[in-house]
Amino acid sequence: MIKLEGSQLAARIKQDVQNAIERMVKDHDVRPGLAAVRVGDDPASEVYVRNKIRACEEVGIRSEHHALPESTSTAELLELIASLNARDDVDGILTQLPLPSQIDETAIIEAMDPNKDVDGFHPVNVGRLALGRPVFVPCTPAGIIELLDYNGVEIRGTNACVVGRSQIVGRPMAQLLLQRDATVTICHSRTRDLAAVTRSADLLVVAIGRAGFIGRDHIKPGATVIDVGMNRISDSEEVRDLFGHEAGKRLEVLAKRGSTLVGDVHPAQAAEVAGKLTPVPGGVGLLTVAMLMKNTLKAATLRRQ
Ligand code: NAP
Repeated sequence: MIKLEGSQLAARIKQDVQNAIERMVKDHDVRPGLAAVRVGDDPASEVYVRNKIRACEEVGIRSEHHALPESTSTAELLELIASLNARDDVDGILTQLPLPSQIDETAIIEAMDPNKDVDGFHPVNVGRLALGRPVFVPCTPAGIIELLDYNGVEIRGTNACVVGRSQIVGRPMAQLLLQRDATVTICHSRTRDLAAVTRSADLLVVAIGRAGFIGRDHIKPGATVIDVGMNRISDSEEVRDLFGHEAGKRLEVLAKRGSTLVGDVHPAQAAEVAGKLTPVPGGVGLLTVAMLMKNTLKAATLRRQ
């Protein structure tokens, strides 16, 4: 089984973005800007935003971090979004999801200027993607397509199956695969006999948020499996079961940090049948951040054309 690592490609994408930004600054005296908005104290969101800000620093994007209290209202957040929409030095706006329950998430997404919507969640960008005329594509599925292309994995004509139908991953992923001429099936929590469906897929993308859920019986021998899931586990027995002979390193992480990351695919079982598999961590997640940088550069370029 081949591991489809994301690090080399992510570094290459970020290097390309950095080169383009250096040219932009030199030729036009313009530096792209990204505003990251986070509400509340969710530790996972804090880590995600921190990683995104760090990536901005690496590639030369000016970034600002708006961390608002848990009690923020929809009206207060709408006010911030309106001010970011109006600012010329802000090219991209990223609102870290999920938002606290009192905030109307749909209203926030719809209030964003679609030309600054570097996450690709605004209905205008969702519609453009569905029509086959994408401008800003959600970063995780866009990164997955880059990873498949980079590794020479054929998409055209294959049976592709996407498990999960979220707005962030599953749906846009299915759209992108369809545009690349795959025959696409979308599965979700109401799918009957999931394993029978996933087992017919040459290309299986899993984004459900359940640790190690997709096992050997779900995977066609030789299939390419893309594991989007990011789940924290802290039970050593579970770690042993999921990682098999590679459990040693993970148990060390567990002892040091109290938890370790695992995807939605059972890594030890998948290794027995899959042809290619993305590791967690070190796979899709790295590309998500790299694609955010690419989208921000694109927003800065398009806004000034
Ligand atoms: P989400 O919004 O929580 O949606 C989960 C989807 O999985 C839903 O469509 C749900 O079906 C489906 N599902 C749940 N249990 C299922 C089951 N037993 N069988 C089949 N389908 C099932 O998920 P998300 O935001 O896409 O995130 C999914 C995972 O990816 C999470 O672990 C998240 O942390 C991770 N993620 C990673 C990245 C990255 O950069 N690596 C980015 C985004 C998300 P229903 O629609 O029927 O409820």
